[in-house]
Amino acid sequence: MKDLHSGLDAWRYLIASDSERRSVDSYLPVILSVVGALSVLPFMALRYMQGAWVAAIVDAVIVVGFIALGTYVFRTRRVQAASIVISCFCIAGVISTVYIVGAQQVYWVYPTLMAVFYLVRPRVALVLAITTVAVLIPKMNEDMDLKTMTTVLITTVVMSSFAFAFSRITNRQRERLMQLATKDPLTGVGNRRGLDVKLKDIVNNHKRSGMIASMLLLDLDHFKKVNDAHGHAVGDQTLKRVTEIINLRIRVTDSLYRIGGEEFVVVLEGQDAMHAKHLAEQLRTLIQANELVPDQPVTISTGVAEIAQDETASSWLGRADGALYRAKHAGRNTTSIAE
Ligand code: GH3
Ligand code: MG
Ligand code: MG
Repeated sequence: MKDLHSGLDAWRYLIASDSERRSVDSYLPVILSVVGALSVLPFMALRYMQGAWVAAIVDAVIVVGFIALGTYVFRTRRVQAASIVISCFCIAGVISTVYIVGAQQVYWVYPTLMAVFYLVRPRVALVLAITTVAVLIPKMNEDMDLKTMTTVLITTVVMSSFAFAFSRITNRQRERLMQLATKDPLTGVGNRRGLDVKLKDIVNNHKRSGMIASMLLLDLDHFKKVNDAHGHAVGDQTLKRVTEIINLRIRVTDSLYRIGGEEFVVVLEGQDAMHAKHLAEQLRTLIQANELVPDQPVTISTGVAEIAQDETASSWLGRADGALYRAKHAGRNTTSIAE
């Protein structure tokens, strides 16, 4: 499973379609930059009218920076890289405003740190929050009475602690939910939803860079007989053993999914149909040789398909299914390659 480090990461991973991903990718940075630019704009005008040039210029830099960052993310969708830059930019804006205009501007620290705790990993956000407060203390000490400064410091620590704990807890919950949503509980490998996400990624990669990939669709032969003769528990145990055998043989860049009762998919990134067929044959002989159930052969039939030009995930899977069907009809315990 992917590492999900922030709310934004998890949200992006859960998005199904490209168009949805595009709008989600740009949603938060655009909101942040619009709100950021709009909230600083009136102060920029005010400083300008008051003839406070340095403050007006700092505000103008912040406004332009927000617009530039928002536009960059909107155009390139490079949210991950931009998140840390946006966070540092917001913090730099708060610090420079406080130092130029005065410590009464320190209240900007609350919305800024809230945004930072959402955008980046909790630990990074915590380091940024501590650094921000440490940098602001000398100016607050200079401009504020002790009571106000203590209140600001305590409320910032309380807010940051809540944001940190909240962000950690929700990240953990999200990871658990992702696991439940994408893993098969019996064998621990990916499930149908996990496969859908993987195939979508591969199809997009293939379109973008021409990277090839192949899949094996494998089905246990006459598995119903195993259940009938030995019971469902032995059937379940057999499915787990088959999963272990496949997992031990495939490479780290291959991935395994259980997509039906006794049906599995292995996705081989960067491998053509010939390599895939070779693996399918290895798995077939390995599983047969393991004699998983007493007095009853456990064998597999496999359909192999390499991704074709301009193909959708479902047509790729459909071709592998057609090949599996032929393997079954050829007498089972065989491998067949899709055209
Ligand atoms: P074929 O060679 O045509 O694939 O024959 P088959 O018996 O394997 O296929 P069929 O689709 O008729 O039956 C699949 C059987 O797999 C039905 C069910 O008993 C068994 N099965 C499906 N899911 C599970 C599961 O989670 N645990 C166990 N123990 N058995 C399962
Ligand atoms: Mg079967
Ligand atoms: Mg089946």
